[in-house]
Amino acid sequence: MRIIRGIKVMQELAKGIRRKGRSIGFVPTMGALHQGHLSLIRKARRENDFVVASIFVNPAQFGPGEDFKRYPRVLRHDAYLCKGAGADVIFYPAAKDIYPDNYQTYVLVEDLSGVLCGKFRPGHFRGVATVVAKLFNIVQPDTAYFGQKDAQQAIIIRKMAQDLHIPLRIKVMPTAREKDGLAMSSRNAYLDKSQRRDAAVLYRALKLSRDLIRQGKRNSKEIIRRMRQLISQKKNCRVQYISIVDLENLKPVAEIKEKVLVALAVWFGKTRLIDNIIIKIK
Ligand code: AMP
Repeated sequence: MRIIRGIKVMQELAKGIRRKGRSIGFVPTMGALHQGHLSLIRKARRENDFVVASIFVNPAQFGPGEDFKRYPRVLRHDAYLCKGAGADVIFYPAAKDIYPDNYQTYVLVEDLSGVLCGKFRPGHFRGVATVVAKLFNIVQPDTAYFGQKDAQQAIIIRKMAQDLHIPLRIKVMPTAREKDGLAMSSRNAYLDKSQRRDAAVLYRALKLSRDLIRQGKRNSKEIIRRMRQLISQKKNCRVQYISIVDLENLKPVAEIKEKVLVALAVWFGKTRLIDNIIIKIK
């Protein structure tokens, strides 16, 4: 497995692989890898001739006062994990090469970026869409793999690729969870013992929404109220939002029909956790 820093080097390598008719699978990440990331890399390995994982803590997607500086950076351990999961290359660019002086071009997927997490993290999805578009141009994948854990991100990237005619396939893989249901996240490392224990309530709240819908409840407000009630039993957390939205346009759904995304963001101390599930009415 190689670690490549140069943008040109990565582009030339990708061009050569594609010229030989071999497929490239791509998994963009910010590193501090866990089983969620590795499930994407393993899937890419099964489906492609060549697998690239990128590790880049993207400054453009962090707001002022967010955790850009303290985000975990553990390249050596990540490299060990990537190799085990079957990656051929880690693309590990420098921020000064991705955003050189006088950098000016950004990608904004308009409506989808201003709702849910976007409402509380202005500029976040503009940063995400921009870096992912750039990475697609550098790595030139046939298929890129994303996690359902970041549902809004996956929906925005799909829309961006479609709108910009980027010739690749996007696959979204299920959320990997800890034994107690907590969605795996690099940010879980910030939690202290009691926050970690309490954080399992997020998935319990999502499962509660599924149970209520299965019992025939269709009113989103009522379901959200019940979820809030459950989460508020944990004293050391603060709900930022709980929303039930349409899976395509991410607009709130008042009365549930067919298929919805239930999504939430909750603060545990200085750590903001997100999670979601898709619920289909059979
Ligand atoms: P990140 O390093 O947090 O930017 O995540 C990189 C990719 O891994 C994104 O596509 C995420 O959605 C995905 N990912 C993160 N956590 C999980 C998880 N628990 N299960 C599945 N995919 C995940």
